Amino acid sequence: MSGHHDHPVPRTLDMPSSVDIYDTTLRDGSQQEGLSLTVDDKLRVAEQLDHLGVAYIEGGWPGANAKDTEFFARAPAELDLGTATLVAFGSTRRVKGKVDDDATLRNLVEAGTSTVCIVGKSSEYHVTQALQTDLDEGVAMVADSVGFLRGEGLRVMLDAEHFFDGYKHNPEFTLRVLESAVLQGATHLVLCDTNGGSLPFEVEQIVGNVVDYFGSDVIIGVHLHDDTGCGVANALAGVRGGARHVQGTINGLGERTGNCNLSTILPNLTLKMGVATLPEGRLERLTSVSHHIAELVNRPLNNQAPYVGSSAFAHKAGLHVSAIAKAKDAYEHIDPEQVGNGTRFVVSELAGRSTIKIKADELGLPMDGAAISNVIDELKRLEHEGYHFEAADASLELLMRRAAGWHQDFFRVESMRVITDELPDGAFSTEATVKVWVGDQRHVRVAEGNGPVNAIDRALRAAVGQAYPALERVHLTDYKVRILDGASATGAVTRVLLSATDGERDWTTIGVSPNIIEASWRALEESLVYGLLHAP
Ligand SMILES: [Zn+2]
Repeated sequence: MSGHHDHPVPRTLDMPSSVDIYDTTLRDGSQQEGLSLTVDDKLRVAEQLDHLGVAYIEGGWPGANAKDTEFFARAPAELDLGTATLVAFGSTRRVKGKVDDDATLRNLVEAGTSTVCIVGKSSEYHVTQALQTDLDEGVAMVADSVGFLRGEGLRVMLDAEHFFDGYKHNPEFTLRVLESAVLQGATHLVLCDTNGGSLPFEVEQIVGNVVDYFGSDVIIGVHLHDDTGCGVANALAGVRGGARHVQGTINGLGERTGNCNLSTILPNLTLKMGVATLPEGRLERLTSVSHHIAELVNRPLNNQAPYVGSSAFAHKAGLHVSAIAKAKDAYEHIDPEQVGNGTRFVVSELAGRSTIKIKADELGLPMDGAAISNVIDELKRLEHEGYHFEAADASLELLMRRAAGWHQDFFRVESMRVITDELPDGAFSTEATVKVWVGDQRHVRVAEGNGPVNAIDRALRAAVGQAYPALERVHLTDYKVRILDGASATGAVTRVLLSATDGERDWTTIGVSPNIIEASWRALEESLVYGLLHAP
């Protein structure tokens, strides 16, 4: 490892042909404000990551909290990983401490994984100011800890904390820290932009210098945050600099502005840069895994998320809609199927006949000119009442099916009633009664809820669910209410948007009424009908 980190000439690009993907959603990602995962949640997320095909899953910090300890205890029996290696995270020994009585290191060994990743300080400023010790001790903390864990037979990765900031200030010290880890047998040196302040050209340059310094003795990786809005760009720059290991989180989960977003990095590396990231055939799982994890961690995905968002390949009514139908690739930067997403045509009252025709073809509905005119008239009428179909794809589909002559015969509602009482102790109770017919069977169900919408949802689901067990998989994910102030002086109306999922498909329905319960009930009924229509 002869060093020449002060590279005098622009380095020739030696991008790797493949990188390994290290997901830290369960550790760094769960630092996000307001995010709290149970051990079961964590196991489900790990399954999804393995289904996607990442190389490493960082499961947490054993010993730092009871949940992470329990996760590692349960993982061997409850996780059957196909592609991924589970990694336990920890830190180096304490200042002036001994490795053999260090609780953090012992917890890492007891986590029972084959691979561990420890964070060590690699910036002079942090060693002298945060640790209040000297640089030799800073190096020794890393070296001793790596050596100890190697002695326990573990594969050891080093997360070099504040590396980029430290390198800019004192590159010799940062490289000394890395070198000590390599000499003790670390296989991966992960350069961390802990405060997230770096920019792509700096990351590319510095990673390049480190790769040149160490040659192929060790794998250089990057761990980046999005504080400059460049998390993804920084990861791509790191790979251009020669990094062969990329850490990040699905959907960019993480503290502050988040970690670098693997949902974006993976297709960029694979499809745009020709760098292999996942096993063959797995990138098509990206959209469903991204949505599934958003669901598991209860963080709704941004519709505009690149590649995986529901708007990522949506085209709104306009001049080019009919042109897209003829030549999709003229208006889309990739084939959306490559990431498991799809083209979507957004329909509103402004939609022309060609948009409705394309939408009908997409749904496989035979519609003649008269049926198309009916849809357009109906859209105009409903949007005037306050409906907004751009946001409610499922309600639009049902409307179009009805215009084409379809009637849902899954169930028929006889009546619905919901009552909210204030009890003598000041508490509120809500109870809903729903009577429905499924064929010639009458089902009557009563359900309590924490509010009227919850109660009618439970009651309707119970009444219909007996005949349709597929509904067990359907649950509501979002409920949005907006009061539309009637400029037409007819008074305020309520618009309800209800999102649901069956674990594979997400959909949104709409209800509009002066009465919030009625608006919710309409959206709810359509949501279940849509779920039944598309039950696998
Ligand atoms: Zn981090």
